[in-house]
Amino acid sequence: MRKTLVAANWKMNGSREFAGEFFKALDLSGVSADVAFCPPFPYLSVVADLLKQVGHQGVALGAQNVSERDAGAFTGEVSAAMLKDFDARYVIVGHSERRSLYGESSELVARKYVAVRQAGLMPILCVGETLEEREASRALEVIGSQLNAVSELAGEDCWHGAVVAYEPVWAIGTGKTATPEQAQEVHEFIRKRLGAAGEQAQILYGGSVKSANAASLFAQPDIDGALVGGASLDAGEFAGICRAA
Ligand code: PEP
Repeated sequence: MRKTLVAANWKMNGSREFAGEFFKALDLSGVSADVAFCPPFPYLSVVADLLKQVGHQGVALGAQNVSERDAGAFTGEVSAAMLKDFDARYVIVGHSERRSLYGESSELVARKYVAVRQAGLMPILCVGETLEEREASRALEVIGSQLNAVSELAGEDCWHGAVVAYEPVWAIGTGKTATPEQAQEVHEFIRKRLGAAGEQAQILYGGSVKSANAASLFAQPDIDGALVGGASLDAGEFAGICRAA
């Protein structure tokens, strides 16, 4: 039986005060899913402290980005070992905003994936197609090649215990959600692509998930949770998604 995971991606939002208020308001009673919070880098230690007060066993800290390198003269970068030092368990890699706005190639994403695993952390590997690619019936081909870039560098063993987030680019922050059937088709494809490791892998859906649409997505057999952007900034809304998982 796979455990469900709901991960909050705060993106470049929040403040010290916001974090305090958010966790004061957060009520995870009745939640059985694992829950992760990925705040901006400066708030990792603030959120790490606040997580100690959350009365839920399965809460963890995550980061939104990482360097593919270990250490050295790389101004502005943060290594996976540093994130581990702050008790992070997860690191988002390959988010579409990093691919499109910061030019991260699938090869760079693969190197980040490897760096995170080598540090003993778990990448949340984001994959997904643009609207243009979906309309050209290329969604599965694009996602397949994003996955291949990782296994070409790291070998097929890299999927052991993996967390992959299917995030259709056209659904991120747009209010448009993939239908449960559209999402299920891609999740099933990803699970098969991961081979023997697929059965245990957690495959999350991301793209305008809200408490109102979460249950129908989570009812799909291959959807094991969610990566949540906008709705993760509202403690009540986010708890509602976690409760549906
Ligand atoms: C995301 O950025 O990972 C995301 C899914 O955003 P949103 O929930 O706002 O669509």
